[in-house]
Amino acid sequence: MRLLKLLHQFKVLLGLGSNLGDKKENIAHAINHIGKTLYIKRTSNLYQTCPTGYIDQPDFYNRCITVETELFPLSLLAFLKDTEIGLGRKRSIKWGPRLIDIDILLFDVKLIYSRRLAVPHKEMLKRKFAMLPACEIAGDWIYPGLHKTVKALYRERREALAVQKIMKIR
Ligand code: AMP
Repeated sequence: MRLLKLLHQFKVLLGLGSNLGDKKENIAHAINHIGKTLYIKRTSNLYQTCPTGYIDQPDFYNRCITVETELFPLSLLAFLKDTEIGLGRKRSIKWGPRLIDIDILLFDVKLIYSRRLAVPHKEMLKRKFAMLPACEIAGDWIYPGLHKTVKALYRERREALAVQKIMKIR
């Protein structure tokens, strides 16, 4: 029992997105692959989202998952970036089209600001496509630094986030 606890010592919220090829399948493959190494706890609905930043590109599909892992933050990031490449992602322009994108949104209640990793993810609070699915599966998690739950922060900000088209899909 104690050993099991140690193996799943960190709880993490991940955001997944895809806007190339079979987007639903790309996200499903990514979750399947992640589940071979990390312990998947919860999976949100899948959402369709208008692109932001570079807008001349297809809509995205987005989904969040919560996982438990023994990996430390940079090892987890390396695993996720390897997963993206393993699934066929090629480097592209910032905010441009992508087969699969996996972001670490929250890593327990840690605040991390390094050259390679910022957690909570810098854009999380601004992105309805991250906050809405996050509320479904991690609404009661505390957002470090602000000491409020994800759900409370979403409620405070959802009007400002409402400009993005976002819809639930099966
Ligand atoms: P992306 O284009 O979303 O794949 O992100 C490019 C880079 O962002 C990655 O190679 C990471 O080093 C960096 N990065 C910083 N913070 C995060 C985070 N919270 N989750 C994922 N990538 C991050």
